[in-house]
Amino acid sequence: MQSTIQRTGVRCIALLSVFMPVAAMAQQFDVERATRAYLDLLQGPARSQSDAYFEGGYWLILWSTLVTCLAYWLVLATGFSAWLRTWATGRTRRPALATMLYALGLTLVTTIITLPWTIYTGFVREAQYGLMSQSFALWSFDQLKALVIALIVTPLAFASIYAAIRRTPRFWWAWGAGLTWGFVLLASAVLPVLIAPLFFTMSELPAGPLRERVVKMARAHEIPAEHIYVADLSRQTKRISANVSGLGPTVQITLADNLISRTSSDEVAAVMGHEMGHYVLGHVWRNAAWYAVLFLIMFLAVARVTPAIIARHPRWRIEGVYDVASAPALLLVATLVMALATPFENAIVRSAETEADAFGLDVARQPDAFALIAIRLSEYRKLEPGHFEEMLFFDHPSGETRIRRAMQWKKDHVPGATMIKPVLPSS
Ligand SMILES: [Zn+2]
Repeated sequence: MQSTIQRTGVRCIALLSVFMPVAAMAQQFDVERATRAYLDLLQGPARSQSDAYFEGGYWLILWSTLVTCLAYWLVLATGFSAWLRTWATGRTRRPALATMLYALGLTLVTTIITLPWTIYTGFVREAQYGLMSQSFALWSFDQLKALVIALIVTPLAFASIYAAIRRTPRFWWAWGAGLTWGFVLLASAVLPVLIAPLFFTMSELPAGPLRERVVKMARAHEIPAEHIYVADLSRQTKRISANVSGLGPTVQITLADNLISRTSSDEVAAVMGHEMGHYVLGHVWRNAAWYAVLFLIMFLAVARVTPAIIARHPRWRIEGVYDVASAPALLLVATLVMALATPFENAIVRSAETEADAFGLDVARQPDAFALIAIRLSEYRKLEPGHFEEMLFFDHPSGETRIRRAMQWKKDHVPGATMIKPVLPSS
């Protein structure tokens, strides 16, 4: 009995003596000081510019909602929507085809009405903050391509949703939510193979130490790594990024060329760890499930509110929600609901991002490189927001949150972690 206690005691002392120096050193690593050292990398005009850019974005949510609603209101109040429906139904006897013709007209007209706002937010403002690397002509060409895609997809979406409205007048909102969800899933599936190549040139990450490092990380987590794509994002923007896109067989990890040209191999590894986290943790499907809930709520609200709005405006000459001329009214309510759901949407995305961060730290084991990436991303994302600000407006953890978690990870996982004086390599 005594000998057992003695042996246990000896083992405990032995264990303590092994862990003591580590514990003592870990104590020296001050998470708050290390975090502050990184946060101080972004100071002065660079910091105020990033804050201004991001805070301006809060107002953009409001103004964009108003501009979009105003466009829908205009096409309703001027009687254009009713005129377009009459024109479309006069062209063909098939209701589905008439609905599609109407959708084409509505997409074109609302794109024209909101064009000044699109130019300001998409080009002028980005250029003002030094994030744009495209000429106005090239940017416009990209917008044109996006319009062509919208002109193909919107008529199909309208035809299917109005078919649901006409066939199941009471429960069309459930069908509408399901169909929209289906369209979004289909769009995510074809995004990397059909849509992204229209805007970017995709090439394989060249063979070399970086590719080997990424492939090794991917293999360790059973992620298909035959193809690792690099997109020439630099033709559009100066932002660094990477993503996991696609669905099922089309899933792929894509790195932006900016990421490779502007950051070190450790930083790329830190980002890839994060992206692999999205893949391994099945975030695409989890987010998709949340969006199904969001669409159901949105369609239910639209189905409840819009008939009353239409009834109050006989001058719009809309017969009911089954009349395709009601589309701008449905879209107006949907726009308002989606704007109100922004914090909810952000919370869904942010929780997945937080998990991917934790996964990335575990697999890449590069807390300092990850902290540097957080600083670089804060060129256009406010680095140190308030608690509620982050909850409402951030769809990714803020730079401050990410750096603090990385430094905490370093303290918890790196034996003898030491403070390094962070330097942001010029990019
Ligand atoms: Zn992410």
